[in-house]
Amino acid sequence: MTTTSHEHLMHWLRDAHAMEEQAEDMLAKTASRVADDSPEFASRLRDHASVSKVQAQHLRECIARLGGDTSALKDLAAKAVGTAQALSGLFTSDEVVKAALAVYTFDHMEIGSYRSLMAAAQVAGDPDTLRMCELHLAQEQEMALWMESLLPGLTQRFLRQSDLQAQSGA
Ligand code: MG
Repeated sequence: MTTTSHEHLMHWLRDAHAMEEQAEDMLAKTASRVADDSPEFASRLRDHASVSKVQAQHLRECIARLGGDTSALKDLAAKAVGTAQALSGLFTSDEVVKAALAVYTFDHMEIGSYRSLMAAAQVAGDPDTLRMCELHLAQEQEMALWMESLLPGLTQRFLRQSDLQAQSGA
């Protein structure tokens, strides 16, 4: 059985939809876990959870416009939840640092997905899908840049606090 480029594009759009639903869930849960350690990080995570929700809606509309069935999307998202749990469920004493790494990593998976989808939309001659993916790519790149500026300070603050706690015997 062969798969056409249109079928691949539809499949990848469904994957992207599952990815965004995962992102919304993971970001919202992570925000509540890091709120005490870094309110600034938590606030940005909540903002990006809202962006992810809109991105998922765009993808649903895109799939429907291309004639795809959107009723099966929920099942796919449920299957993908395991990955998000793996990213967000491993927290230990250094959870704020681990959370930042997980968000940064997930964001780059999204960047790769949208770059690939943009190329697929070009093959399909679908300017609307291309524009949506360009917008989402720009949003993910902005988030990735923000994470890049956050990571060093967040890591160093965490280490200083660890040493202070060790010195005070806490
Ligand atoms: Mg996203």
